[in-house]
Amino acid sequence: MALREVLQFPDARLKRVSKPIGEIDDAIRQLASDLLEVMYDEPGIGLAAPQVGEAVRLIVVDTEWSQPGGERNPLVLVNPEIVESHGTLVWTEGCLSVPDFEADVTRAERVRVRARDLDGKTLEIDAEELQAVCLQHEIDHLDGILFIDRISRLKRSLYVQKRKKALRREQEDEGASTAGAARL
Ligand code: ZN
Repeated sequence: MALREVLQFPDARLKRVSKPIGEIDDAIRQLASDLLEVMYDEPGIGLAAPQVGEAVRLIVVDTEWSQPGGERNPLVLVNPEIVESHGTLVWTEGCLSVPDFEADVTRAERVRVRARDLDGKTLEIDAEELQAVCLQHEIDHLDGILFIDRISRLKRSLYVQKRKKALRREQEDEGASTAGAARL
């Protein structure tokens, strides 16, 4: 089956607040496996369900597999929430839903995240540095927040302008290639 498409800014679906998951059924298990497939294919180190258009509280994270000698060891988290956070750090972030942009974001340095796994078992994860950043970034997606909502307004508006220009160019290119085609 084809990989699910990752929504890109400014798609309005990225701004929705996702719903908590009740029963973990086959649809949720399938969605988790779709998310992993997309994350490893892109490649990325985290992905949230709303990024593929599903407004439910499900994320996948694997911050080690892309390191030298790293193996795939994903966390699949249902209804993740940050229950403790400590310290601050600045990390340069990017996002599969925010093309061609990176920026420094201030986050908590360490977090404790409570979630359920796909068997419904409650987990608590103590994360720091990159893994903590990634968990905060993905949980933000569940609340309709992108990392560009956490940078200065100036930097954000420069990106938004650049992105709009790129989208206009794409549209013009598409318009050129389909000119003369029958409109049915
Ligand atoms: Zn993201």
